[in-house]
Amino acid sequence: MVSFPDSEVRDAVGGRCEPEGAESREAEAECGATKEQRGRTIVWRNVVLMALLHTGALYAVLLVPKAHPFTWIWSYVCFIITALGVTAGAHRLWSHRSYKAKLPLRIFLAAANSMAFQNDIFEWSRDHRAHHKYSETDGDPHNAKRGFFFAHIGWLFLRKHNDVIEKGKRLDLSDLLADPVVVFQRRHYKTSVVVMCFLLPTLVPWYFWGECIWNSYFLAAILRYTISLNVAWLVNSAAHMYGNRPYDRNINPRENCFVSFGAIGEGYHNYHHTFPFDYAASELGLRFNPTTCFIDLMCWFGLASDRKKATPEMIKARKLRTGDGSA
Ligand SMILES: [Zn+2]
Ligand SMILES: [Zn+2]
Repeated sequence: MVSFPDSEVRDAVGGRCEPEGAESREAEAECGATKEQRGRTIVWRNVVLMALLHTGALYAVLLVPKAHPFTWIWSYVCFIITALGVTAGAHRLWSHRSYKAKLPLRIFLAAANSMAFQNDIFEWSRDHRAHHKYSETDGDPHNAKRGFFFAHIGWLFLRKHNDVIEKGKRLDLSDLLADPVVVFQRRHYKTSVVVMCFLLPTLVPWYFWGECIWNSYFLAAILRYTISLNVAWLVNSAAHMYGNRPYDRNINPRENCFVSFGAIGEGYHNYHHTFPFDYAASELGLRFNPTTCFIDLMCWFGLASDRKKATPEMIKARKLRTGDGSA
């Protein structure tokens, strides 16, 4: 799973070379890049921005002892909201349609998704559908066969491979465009990111308990954002390389408890790639799966419904047929 501020960062540089709906030949002519070059051309602006962001996050760690304890708690709350915007929102709701959500919940998840600043919902879901459909080929935006570094962060440092663009155009995304919440978030994405990812996390500690803006910005915005990105990227890297394959030994995605712990339930990746429609993204119910707890809670409140789940019989039969026998 998981993408990154393509439209804000990468597409700001490579974007003119990857206009949506434009023919690839036109795009190539515009950038002067061949198909072979496209997957290897470095986007230096992203390299610099990521270096700055991670340096800022390291500096933020030094500020932790100086910050108010409420600021630590607030940063963690922002981390959880951020994560839900991706896991319960862009991933399980919009990419996979594994449950249905009413308007108030969709608005909350879209706002949380802007706090995550990993591309707007439409773009994230398009890339994620490509990740599943063309998994570990050149059509996969973070193809793990190109190594840990590429799957984790390196894919943001290179222009998209031509197959990602070409094959991405074949995906049916009409359901996303039919959701006014998705369209609204896409239209106002930059503003929503400034407000949700940076302003709100910074201003709340300053306004409510007198935290200095400097501490507040580096902890609740920069550090929280950097950690949330890396945790999400681990699903693309570590969970495609380390762990068991009890459901399908023929694919690379793995069951990785450590990733699940950080990514609030998204590390059961062999299960998820085998049963992508399952709203829990795991056979194990609520264990290490706060996202599933959240969706269940929303159903209890009447804000969500129609959770899709693989049946025990289906799971057992699949394990026997293609599993590696590890569970
Ligand atoms: Zn998925
Ligand atoms: Zn995956």
